[in-house]
Amino acid sequence: MPELPEVETTRRGITPHLSGVEITDVIVRNRRLRYPVSKTLDQISGDRFVDVRRRAKYLILDLETAGSLIVHLGMSGSLRLSDPAIELKKHDHVILELSNGKQLRFHDPRRFGIYLHLPVENPLEHRLLSKLGPEPLSDDFDLPHLKLACRGRKAPIKQVIMDNKVVVGVGNIYASEALFRAGIRPTIAAGRLSGPRLGRLVESIREVLHESIEQGGTTLRDFVNSDGEPGYFSQRLFVYDRFADPCRVCQTPIRQKVMGQRSTYWCPNCQK
Ligand code: ZN
Repeated sequence: MPELPEVETTRRGITPHLSGVEITDVIVRNRRLRYPVSKTLDQISGDRFVDVRRRAKYLILDLETAGSLIVHLGMSGSLRLSDPAIELKKHDHVILELSNGKQLRFHDPRRFGIYLHLPVENPLEHRLLSKLGPEPLSDDFDLPHLKLACRGRKAPIKQVIMDNKVVVGVGNIYASEALFRAGIRPTIAAGRLSGPRLGRLVESIREVLHESIEQGGTTLRDFVNSDGEPGYFSQRLFVYDRFADPCRVCQTPIRQKVMGQRSTYWCPNCQK
């Protein structure tokens, strides 16, 4: 599943190829995504892209005159620039033809993705985006913010940091890895953690996301002119998906438990 680093990598990969570029044609092959692809999308033909932003795992593609597009990659989506000579694939659902001779293809086999056109509305005020918490890599996500979110909470800390209203974009993998780095057991009640431990957690969340985005930088070309499957990168993982494997730090077997329908992994020795 594309996580925040893959979405940010997509943004960085496509932006230089879209800025100032005109959309010359719109082809919708399948409207049935998580929500139907906006009917007004046909109207953006002749418009130009001015910027590509990211909010949580949403990409916001701003147009010169016709508002903006909101794209979410869902469970299996990708948004890539492609050479028109490369044959379309079965799950290429929305194709924008561009004045630079390329196509922007939205590919999504499981169709949990989103492709909306907002002709006038501010995308940040759209109902999907308006209630989201702070970006994990922004100054708004800091120790006072996390402290307030954890105060008096009996919920496990992992559940709290995966809550989009507390902080966006911390998926299962990054929550597990950040908690390992911070030495915090995922099952501990959020309200029981001290300020210094929460401070370490804020830093760990930033670190794992930063490192993953930096790694993504090396695979940027995969998002441009490629006809293969999206090349999502896998960080060197310490606990995630390593049940019963020895901890990379202390050799203790990694434990696993299902919490809130998600598999959670931790080292019983390194994480207290
Ligand atoms: Zn360990």
